[in-house]
Amino acid sequence: MEIWQQIFAQKIEQMKPGDRWTRKMDYNLQSNDLDPGWKQFLQRHAFARFQCSQCWHTWQSAQVNILFHMHLDRKQRQGQVKMRIFRQECKKCLVPELEPPEFSQENIERVLENLVLKISGKCYRDAINPKAEAKIIVEDQTMGPHDSAHCEACRSGICYMQQEAPAPASTFFRPAFLFPRVPPDHQEGSDAETGRSDAETGSRSGWRSSCDWRRCCCYSSCLVIFLAVPIFVLLYFKAK
Ligand SMILES: [Zn+2]
Ligand SMILES: [Zn+2]
Repeated sequence: MEIWQQIFAQKIEQMKPGDRWTRKMDYNLQSNDLDPGWKQFLQRHAFARFQCSQCWHTWQSAQVNILFHMHLDRKQRQGQVKMRIFRQECKKCLVPELEPPEFSQENIERVLENLVLKISGKCYRDAINPKAEAKIIVEDQTMGPHDSAHCEACRSGICYMQQEAPAPASTFFRPAFLFPRVPPDHQEGSDAETGRSDAETGSRSGWRSSCDWRRCCCYSSCLVIFLAVPIFVLLYFKAK
């Protein structure tokens, strides 16, 4: 969580120099359950990768939710942010644990940019342009339906994809190899890149095998045409 703290501190200092803001994780945070004076921001459709801590299966999701509650004490010029990142479970394990997502640094920056924008609008009542919201980068293609059964946000009733909504406009696709990933603080072992990418979210190997299959079909059709034309010509002249 170091990186979240670092980037948040930088961004809030840029926006409101002199005001002191603290940020902490709270896994009991509930959507719309706010103390008086607190405001809420829910970042939807964040892209992140996951790894099972039991079987090392990896997957990715573009439906990760991050919930923030913010409060500003105007007199003291002090603010607090509580944050909850919703986790997902491995679908291959019989008794799965909730695994925390891994975000790229660029997506962490974008989520926190949006948070600071919301703080500006909701806590300081600054006029903000809602279109200024940073888009989350989808670093890899995700296919197939959202796995609600293994999603903590779905269980909490806040996951947008519960009704299979169309692809959101707040994200855009860019291949993963263009930027590095930020590992979670508690990462055990460093064999995250084992290539055992996911079936749920459409792995590249699946895409490649469908490509091979198409190429195979194409070659066979060409061969059939190549053989059929001379046979047809031969039969035509023989008949004459
Ligand atoms: Zn597993
Ligand atoms: Zn969900």
